[in-house]
Amino acid sequence: MQYLGVDLVKPKAAFFDFSSCEGCQLQIANNESNLLDFISLMEVINFREILTGGKDDYEIAFIEGSITRDDEINRVKNIREKTKILVAFGTCACFGGINKLKNKFNDIEWVKKEVYGNYPVETNDKVLAIDEVVKVDFYIYGCPVNKPEVEAIVQSIALGREFRYLKHPVCFRCKEKQNICLYELGKICMGPLTRAGCGARCPSNGNSCIGCRGPAAEPNIEFMKKIMKKNGFTERQIRDKFELFSAFKWEK
Ligand code: SF4
Ligand code: SF4
Repeated sequence: MQYLGVDLVKPKAAFFDFSSCEGCQLQIANNESNLLDFISLMEVINFREILTGGKDDYEIAFIEGSITRDDEINRVKNIREKTKILVAFGTCACFGGINKLKNKFNDIEWVKKEVYGNYPVETNDKVLAIDEVVKVDFYIYGCPVNKPEVEAIVQSIALGREFRYLKHPVCFRCKEKQNICLYELGKICMGPLTRAGCGARCPSNGNSCIGCRGPAAEPNIEFMKKIMKKNGFTERQIRDKFELFSAFKWEK
């Protein structure tokens, strides 16, 4: 790889999956048109979805998923010790994601019985985001991550340049695209509060933003809740939107 005509050493990168659907890694693996360009930014030495085998001398570790078991706590700590840069990759890693809905239940044994019956399942009482266990250097938000944004962040890491996260909300991009606001159509939407960067993917296709990328800078949450109520949405409907991805820190 060259930058301004100078040969650069490619950092060695590894991708690891924890409790997740692995959809974020799949976003990269599926990116056939520019997968080779993407991989050319780094020397990918560990990536279960696209490579067999794997080495341990990585410098950048991409962590997908949240932490739900003790062995995962030990594993992510071990990765942190080995890597120079650790990236929380996707909403499960950044916030806990859908998995963290489990934290709302007080009786985990009841949950296990309801979901798995008598099948033996090893799981901790509480789900943790990656930065609740180890230090995280970069966050890549989204469920799943947005490919162009991943490439921009990876490029910044590889070239040692600062990456500037967007601060404005999804709503901003939705207006740019001249979409009809979903509130006009009687739907609830988290776009006014949620960090942009996905191209307003959901409202552009007629679906509510459900806040997967977490809060934009300085979200006015209380005021937005009042607007949601004024538009006829119940406490329950509003809470469901805020709690889905744990990105809005509902537990505080
Ligand atoms: S649909 Fe959602 S994101 Fe789009 S303008 Fe309305 S509130 Fe904002
Ligand atoms: S519109 Fe909202 S829910 Fe949809 S991808 Fe973007 S941030 Fe996530």
